[in-house]
Amino acid sequence: PSPGTPLIRVEKARKTFGGLVAVNDVSFEVKAGQIVGLIGPNGAGKSTTFDLITGMNSLSGGQILFEGKPLTGRSPRDIARQGVARTFQHPKILPGMSVLENVALGAHQRGTGGVLQSILRLERTEEAALMAEAMRQLERVGLAEFKDRPAGDLALGQVRILEIARALALDPVVLLLDEPAAGLRYGEKQELAALLKKLRGEGMSILLVEHDMSFVMGLVDHLVVLDFGTRIADGKPQEVRENPAVIAAYLGG
Ligand code: ADP
Ligand code: MG
Repeated sequence: PSPGTPLIRVEKARKTFGGLVAVNDVSFEVKAGQIVGLIGPNGAGKSTTFDLITGMNSLSGGQILFEGKPLTGRSPRDIARQGVARTFQHPKILPGMSVLENVALGAHQRGTGGVLQSILRLERTEEAALMAEAMRQLERVGLAEFKDRPAGDLALGQVRILEIARALALDPVVLLLDEPAAGLRYGEKQELAALLKKLRGEGMSILLVEHDMSFVMGLVDHLVVLDFGTRIADGKPQEVRENPAVIAAYLGG
């Protein structure tokens, strides 16, 4: 998609859990070639918004469009295959498998077969193609030297980057990252930010959930702020940072 084309359009998305309004008629857009930050205090509804976009939870109201078409009723697998890939707040790596195999699992989900089990019954040529694609992604993110290590041996910063490589192996149009910088050391955060800028430079579009406002400031093109499920600000990072409602939400949260 050419830069600036709307990719994801969240229109008055709503999610209730019993009496709790987790996402309260939230609207925003992710355009091609942008890094959009979705920030807010704990419990603001960020992960739930991701779940709504990726089909892991159903909307109570509103709609979400991807490349102009509603995602309503589609399965997470179908949405991922259409080009919306995500990582999770709590990494879902297989610690006993190698770094390369973990990425190959992502590449495999692009295909039509079953997910985990069937990788064990692949044809050799198919397996070689998956491994080659996984290797390409490891090189892209800078983890190639760790390819044969058990994923469980990696430092947290590397695990987060491994998860990004696995999402990239799906060949996504847009990448959704749920708090990739949480718990990372300063140097690891810098490396992660550099990787995300590199991906944007290659034309990737990214929706980034983040708790830490300073991490997103120099990185994102656009910021959306949630508080108690409601969008309280939406704009350029510098404007949003000076918004009194945002300052209050962060001081209170
Ligand atoms: P964030 O990612 O911004 O920290 P979440 O989206 O995880 O926030 O949660 C938003 C709110 O919805 C919180 O109050 C949380 O407790 C609630 N919530 C999230 N998932 C569920 C669920 N499956 N059932 C009930 N409440 C939930
Ligand atoms: Mg969350």
